[in-house]
Amino acid sequence: MNEVERLVRQKLFAEGVKQLASTFDICMWPASKCSKSAIRAHSVQNSRVLDLIHHKGHVVMPRLRTSFSEGPTLQFVEVGRNKATTFTGLCSAHDQQMFAPIESRPIDAANAQHLFLVAYRAVLKEAHASMKSGIDTQTNYLRGADNGLIPRDEPSAPGLQAVEQMMASYLVHQIKERYDNAFLTQQWSCLNHFLLYLEAPPGVAVSSFFTTDLWSEETDAPAMVSLNVLPYRGKTLAVLSCLTEHSKQVETSFDRLLSSRGALQLYELSKLILRKCENIVLSPMLYDAFSHRQKETIAMYFERNIAGQSFDAEDPQIFLFAPVDPPSSAH
Ligand SMILES: [Zn+2]
Repeated sequence: MNEVERLVRQKLFAEGVKQLASTFDICMWPASKCSKSAIRAHSVQNSRVLDLIHHKGHVVMPRLRTSFSEGPTLQFVEVGRNKATTFTGLCSAHDQQMFAPIESRPIDAANAQHLFLVAYRAVLKEAHASMKSGIDTQTNYLRGADNGLIPRDEPSAPGLQAVEQMMASYLVHQIKERYDNAFLTQQWSCLNHFLLYLEAPPGVAVSSFFTTDLWSEETDAPAMVSLNVLPYRGKTLAVLSCLTEHSKQVETSFDRLLSSRGALQLYELSKLILRKCENIVLSPMLYDAFSHRQKETIAMYFERNIAGQSFDAEDPQIFLFAPVDPPSSAH
């Protein structure tokens, strides 16, 4: 790489990072076109979930740091609860209107509307995030092509990546439309929920939507699932939610998680969260009780599974719900 090419790449990298950091404001209210500007809506509930997890206004979340020389690195860091897990996909009025049933009173796991809304929020956040990555990848690809770094008239890795990102975004969008219709017609029963009542004190919250990696003939697309983990009646509840016709794929894909119990189930869930979710919130009190080794193992397992990579390992230190070593042996 000559000096000019290096400088062009460095400039494009800086612009790419700026693009990734830029917000993409759009209200995704399904009932009508809404032109009001989006707020930083919480994808993990602020009032009833972060309330129980934060310490002095902070929570612990994974953050990706990008650097041109060292590449991306990942760390779990403390972030202000008001910035945690937000996305700019709803305006203030519609955010309130949509989630009022679960904002104004505690979530009831026997209430189909409550469970629908919890899952819907994860779907909306993913639809918003995948639309933004589609735009970002396309923008960066075109920028590279304009600068002569990427050929326009033959297949290239960034070109294929842009197409793949658009396809991923489209798959999420298709499922979001099903949720939109169900929301508008109050057909809460279009979803199936797998409820896991966990023997773990409140300390972990997750809200994510991802693929089961299994194909559904019925929807002619990969079956997808949302995972929400939240404090529930002094303990923790995990809910896997999917369109009813994707139930079989969810059962197959997460068989080990669904069939195990106790500490083993918490271990399987920890691995699933770190493999598939980015929107992970831990209480600082819980995280600080982890040994250095547990923190490193968690970060490594997470880092090796980001950006579509897939890595598996068995290590009891991959555990999010309690310190694995007694605190006295922490170092
Ligand atoms: Zn709106």
